[in-house]
Amino acid sequence: MNCPICSQLKDVETSFYKYDAPQYDHPLPDAAGQLIMVDNGMEENLQEHHVRCCPLCGTLYRYDVSYEYHVNGSEDEEQLVRMTPEEGAQYCRSEAQKLEKIRQWIDQLKDAYGSLVDFFDRGHPSSDEQVEVLQQMEEYQQTINQQVQELQTRVESLRRTCPQIINTWVAAHIKVCQFYLDQPMGMDVDAMVSHHVAETTLQEWKQFLEGGEVFIRVHPTWMEGYLERLEAAL
Ligand SMILES: [Zn+2]
Repeated sequence: MNCPICSQLKDVETSFYKYDAPQYDHPLPDAAGQLIMVDNGMEENLQEHHVRCCPLCGTLYRYDVSYEYHVNGSEDEEQLVRMTPEEGAQYCRSEAQKLEKIRQWIDQLKDAYGSLVDFFDRGHPSSDEQVEVLQQMEEYQQTINQQVQELQTRVESLRRTCPQIINTWVAAHIKVCQFYLDQPMGMDVDAMVSHHVAETTLQEWKQFLEGGEVFIRVHPTWMEGYLERLEAAL
């Protein structure tokens, strides 16, 4: 382990504090304080239970603190446990899945909104129906804005505190886009459209990785089986 921070930490570190007996205090090594607390912007009780990320090498650690109350003063115990590379990768996948769940929900909301617009424009709604449809559109738009805002908060927090979660998410999408790009095109029009949509989507994910827009629309209509492939890749 060559990392100047991680090399100062054992696989498991514990601290101990007893309030009325500071002579027994045993704090975590200083290096533990150089790790960055992973924050997705939405969790509560983060101070007591969280994951920490090494800013130099990306190694992840689980941090937990427990309190015990006694008549003659309380005791605190902190524990910092280094994740194995497999555990770290699994953690990044599960956090990336949370982002993807919100992204898919926004896709669905936008589809529903689009159907309302179609009905309004081409479905010959009565004037009562028009009022109702406009109201529904307004509600959908508000929910879409809220969800995009939540995604934005999460992505910005993770870009700061644990960029490898973002990288895991994007890598899975790029892998799936690449699958469609690798398919033979020939003169099949559907395959050409699929190819074009995959190329556009892939470019958007690359831009996202460089700090661009947080919501990337995916069109499974043109990339059949996209979400199933993504689930397998994540
Ligand atoms: Zn490190």
